[in-house]
Amino acid sequence: MDFGLTEKQKMIRKITREFAEEYIAPVAEESDRNSELDPTVMKKMKELNYFGSCIPEEYGGAGLHNDTISFAIITEEIGRVDASWAITTGVHGSVCLYPIYRFGTEEQKQRFLIDLAKGNKIGAFCLTEANAGSDAGGVQLTAEKDGDDYILNGSKIFATNGGIAKTLLVVAKSGEKASRKVLTVFIVDTDTPGYSVGVKEDKLGVRASNTSELVFQDVRVPEENILGGLGNGFRLGLQILDYGRITIAAQCLGLAQGCLEASIKYSNEREQFGAKIGKFQGIQWKLADMATDVESARLLTYKAAWRCDQKMDYGLAGSMAKLVASEAAMKAAHQAVQIHGGYGLMKAYAVERFFRDAKMGEIYEGTSEIQRMVIANHMLKGR
Ligand SMILES: Cc1cc2nc3c(=O)[nH]c(=O)nc-3n(C[C@H](O)[C@H](O)[C@H](O)COP(=O)(O)OP(=O)(O)OC[C@H]3O[C@@H](n4cnc5c(N)ncnc54)[C@H](O)[C@@H]3O)c2cc1C
Repeated sequence: MDFGLTEKQKMIRKITREFAEEYIAPVAEESDRNSELDPTVMKKMKELNYFGSCIPEEYGGAGLHNDTISFAIITEEIGRVDASWAITTGVHGSVCLYPIYRFGTEEQKQRFLIDLAKGNKIGAFCLTEANAGSDAGGVQLTAEKDGDDYILNGSKIFATNGGIAKTLLVVAKSGEKASRKVLTVFIVDTDTPGYSVGVKEDKLGVRASNTSELVFQDVRVPEENILGGLGNGFRLGLQILDYGRITIAAQCLGLAQGCLEASIKYSNEREQFGAKIGKFQGIQWKLADMATDVESARLLTYKAAWRCDQKMDYGLAGSMAKLVASEAAMKAAHQAVQIHGGYGLMKAYAVERFFRDAKMGEIYEGTSEIQRMVIANHMLKGR
């Protein structure tokens, strides 16, 4: 057993950390306040090929499709300074590009992946609806066959990147079999007539990340845009989320790491009762618990990524990683604000933003309750 990173993985961490600190961290507070992604960061991300991290070079990517650990490290390092950017690139890569790469036809890869990998187009994954949250089977957006096309009608909510995306993976109800819904995933170009962006959500956290409602009114999608086969949408959706959860785990891990580092720094600076607060056992125990949680989250996240790279099943590992990392991030953010005292509630300190951002990890791509359900199902039934 080897817990070491390769030289390439160490280099990717170093380069991404430098990039995140130089370009993302200085504008993160402003982006959070404005609820907008910074255009200079967007431009730089494109130049450095971060939008194509998990895609082979032949489709314009950075070639980390078999190195999910590196993809996780990138997301972790971005998440260490700004969760909004981590989920923007993470969602784009893990639940839009990667599924097209893994389940798409060669024609679909050629047609969609190159622009997405270069960041010329942003991608989104659209499953959630007003009545379909934890229960993916509740999808009501319909796809009706019309000649060689399908006509999509309905709406999606809470889509990350929704308002800025040009390519969507849309889970739709394409029929019924034995009174059960049949779901299909469609690749939708947002230039298609009938498509529009609805409400842009005003959120507690990850405010710079675009979360939007998407409306489909007679949106005509050609049959060749079906991803992974007609009627395979339920299974495919779950497989897409299995990979996505590694990315969310990595984003949460980065946030927890950011909270830990900020807390250590503050504990070494702030003086009360004539001593640095880091001298007090009450503070030391918080730091010890945070560090232990961060390391647990890192081990589980990298293990899930490693299993993916080894072509082993990673659904269970991904759920465990996402559960532990999101709860580690929430606890770390809570303690980080506590360690900063009153200053922790002020915008001048990043932990104020981390605290609000942390809550999202326990909700999206399956709540903590749903992760526990998935894990328990594995335990009770196997797979
Ligand atoms: C910032 C943000 C970004 C998002 N991005 C996307 C995206 O890109 N694409 C997308 O499709 N969706 C996205 N979502 C939606 C997200 O995945 C859902 O919000 C999430 O899955 C929960 O669904 P819900 O909000 O409808 O809650 P509900 O499913 O209504 O759950 C409400 C509560 O009931 C609990 N619950 C539900 N079922 C059970 C059960 N069987 N056992 C125990 N407890 C249960 C839940 O855990 C939760 O606590 C995003 C959400 C947010 C907040």
